[in-house]
Parts: sequence; C-alpha cells; structure tokens
Amino acid sequence: MNFDFIIIGGSFAGMTTALSLSNVSTDLKIAIIERQNILQEDRQRDGRAYAISAASLKLFKEIGIYEAVQQEAGKIADIKITDYKSPFFLDFIGFEVDPQHGQLGQIIENYHIHNALRNRILEHKNITVFSPNSYEEINFGDVVKVKLDDEKIISGKLLLACDGRFSRLRDLYQIHTTQKKYHQTAIVFNISHQLPHENIAHEKFLPGGPLAILPLKNPHQSSIVWISSDETAQLVMSLDDENFIHQLTKKTENCLGKISVISEKFSYPLILIEAEKFYHEKMLLIGDAAAGVHPIAGQGFNLAITGIKILCQLVQESLNSGFDISAENLIKEYNKKARREAKKMLIATDILNSLFETKSFSINLARNLGIGLVNKIPKLKKFFIKSAGGF
Ligand SMILES: Cc1cc2nc3c(=O)[nH]c(=O)nc-3n(C[C@H](O)[C@H](O)[C@H](O)COP(=O)(O)OP(=O)(O)OC[C@H]3O[C@@H](n4cnc5c(N)ncnc54)[C@H](O)[C@@H]3O)c2cc1C
Repeated sequence: MNFDFIIIGGSFAGMTTALSLSNVSTDLKIAIIERQNILQEDRQRDGRAYAISAASLKLFKEIGIYEAVQQEAGKIADIKITDYKSPFFLDFIGFEVDPQHGQLGQIIENYHIHNALRNRILEHKNITVFSPNSYEEINFGDVVKVKLDDEKIISGKLLLACDGRFSRLRDLYQIHTTQKKYHQTAIVFNISHQLPHENIAHEKFLPGGPLAILPLKNPHQSSIVWISSDETAQLVMSLDDENFIHQLTKKTENCLGKISVISEKFSYPLILIEAEKFYHEKMLLIGDAAAGVHPIAGQGFNLAITGIKILCQLVQESLNSGFDISAENLIKEYNKKARREAKKMLIATDILNSLFETKSFSINLARNLGIGLVNKIPKLKKFFIKSAGGF
C-alpha cells in the first residue's frame, strides 16, 4: 500500500503516465485509482478517433502499445487544408519530412488506444489498479495519504491528477483556471465512402465551421469531426438520415463520392480550460486536468503526452542523481516546462479557430495570403509539417 506515484484517473493521460514512469524504472511502484470499471470492462466507442502525431507514436512504441493499435490504425500520408472558396490550399506531404515511412501520424479510434493501454498495464507487476474506485480523503504531509471509497488507505510520494478537463482535484485545491466557451459543438462519427481516402486527412475550413475527414484503416472508411455553432449542431443532430447525408456531402465537397454513416453520432460542446498552475503541494496536474485545448488540430492527447515526457525526464534525472522524486525542485520544473508547452498549444489552437471563424475581410485576406505563402516557402512549410508531427 506504499507507492511512489498515486495516479487519480485511469484514462488516456493516467494510463500513459503509469506506463511511461514504469519505463523510467520498473522499481517505481505506481497506483492508479479509476472510478470506472476498467479492469473488467472494455472501453466502448465514443465516436472520437484520435490523430496521433509521429512523436506520440514513438512513445507508443516505447511503452509497448504500438503493435496492438496497428491493427486499427489509419495512416496519415498527407494533410490537405482548404479554406472555403480560396484558390490557396496547404498540402502537407508525409514523404517531405519522413522519406522512410511517409507518415505524419495515424488516426486511431480512441477506444482501441484505451484498451491497449489497459491490457499493457495489466502486464506490469509494479502497477496496481484500484477500479472501480474513487477517493474520499487526501492528506498531504511527508507522504500523500489517500483514503479510497472502500476504506483502503494508500500512500505515495507524489499524487498525479489525471481526472480530466473538469478535474475535481483541481477544484478541491482551488487551482484557478482560465476558461473559454467556444459556443461550438463537435459532432463525431464514422462514415463509409465510395472513393478510397488514399490516406489523406482533410481539414476543410467552411463558413459554418471546420470539417475534418480523417482516414481510418479501411480505405473506404473515415472518421468525421464536424464543428459548428451550438445551435447549428443541435439542428444537424436532429436531421433525418437523408438530410444529414445531404448536408454532409455538401460539406465534403463530394471528395469521397457517395457516403453513408456507419456509427452512432456523438456531440461534444467545446471549451478551453487552462489551470493557472499545474501543481498543489505534492500533486501535479496532467493531461486535460492541466489544459484542455480546442480539438481543431487534434492535439489534446498529444499535448498530454508532451507533459508526460517532461515528467518522466525529470523523474529520470532525480533518480540518476539520488534526489527525492517529490522534491520541490521537480514539482516547480514540471510546472514551468509543462505549462510552457501547454500555453503554446492553447494559443495556437485558439488563434487557429478564431482565424477561420472571423468574418473580417482583412483577416480573411491575410489568412489567404498566409496559406499561399506557407505553400511557397519550403522551409516554412517544413516547419509546419514538423509541428503537425509533434516535433
Ligand atoms: C471532439 C474531440 C476530438 C478530439 N480529438 C483528438 C485528437 O484527434 N487527438 C488528440 O490528441 N486529442 C483529441 N482530443 C482530446 C482528447 O480527447 C483529450 O485530450 C484526452 O481524452 C484527455 O485524456 P485525460 O486522460 O486527460 O482525460 P479523460 O479522458 O477525461 O479521463 C479522465 C479520467 O478520470 C477519471 N476520473 C475522474 N474523476 C475521478 C475520480 N474522482 N476518481 C477516479 N477517477 C476519476 C474518469 O473516469 C476518466 O477515466 C479530442 C477531444 C474532443 C472533445
């Protein structure tokens, strides 16, 4: 019952953190507390397929889930970004940055990632999962003591809050947040289509909001992220099948031929949340609990992975030099570095969303010129492709 790390929230960020820390050293003892029954129940589809960057895929290899998700992964060989009726478009081609694999990332339905993480966790003897469990009391002292809802008491050197965008732990310790409601909703679902997707991901910036078409493993299936205002999204969700397909086909500009919806549709209201600091005493915020970004660039989980890598690097350095893994220095360094990365992503995704949402003529013009310019200057283009790949 004595651990090095206690993780609250055993989902994407929590399980990835546990496996990554375990990679630093299998001597580290890690506890995960998750309120859903992840031990007995497989995660079900929630409509979202994640764009996983090349940098995050590298981590998937290191923590041993890469092979498991390959059976379901769609490759992104090319990202085409179009701006309504503008003659300019951006074309990010994988072979330009990665001649060996020609891949900018992969599209994987998130429940496959979740199940692969869980299966891998079960192979680790140094990771203990308390599920379905929550916590009742937390006390910070020389060690962190956590009382679970079944009366068990466990202790750890550092507590990691991975309890999601609406983190209760963040609220409990009164960590202030910046929040921005976008008044937009993302509708997500899968389609099958007549023409093969050729591993091209499309991001279409349209007057009502962006539409992403993300290539799945099957060349005739894609995942759709359709973002629009809350009111429009409500209307779209209430359309009958025929009208829904009609509207969607118009949005895709018929680039995939005849379409049919092959999954349930899910909707997600969009909100930006940024914690003003990523720690409290011996607790660190990780993943969406620290920063929840707009999904316009498919970067939320990728950003969580960036934070996890920062934490692991610091833990590695502490172990190498014989320091305590809960030392104030480690906590402050994590806060500084992870916040810096989160800030960059929060600003980039927020600006990207407002750039394409605006009705201002001058911003539209500047945006079009910008797109034309990036396409014309190879060094600039390469910079953007590398950013998309998480490098
Ligand atoms: C429409 C949409 C599309 C997206 N697309 C992408 C994409 O393409 N690429 C990408 O990288 N990201 C994407 N994201 C972002 C991604 O979904 C999130 O960044 C990611 O799920 C965050 O994972 P997390 O583990 O931090 O939080 P969550 O997945 O929310 O997990 C939190 C966990 O904590 C548990 N928990 C909460 N409270 C307690 C408690 N008291 N006790 C025990 N357990 C608790 C919950 O049960 C849950 O399992 C998208 C998001 C949206 C909305």
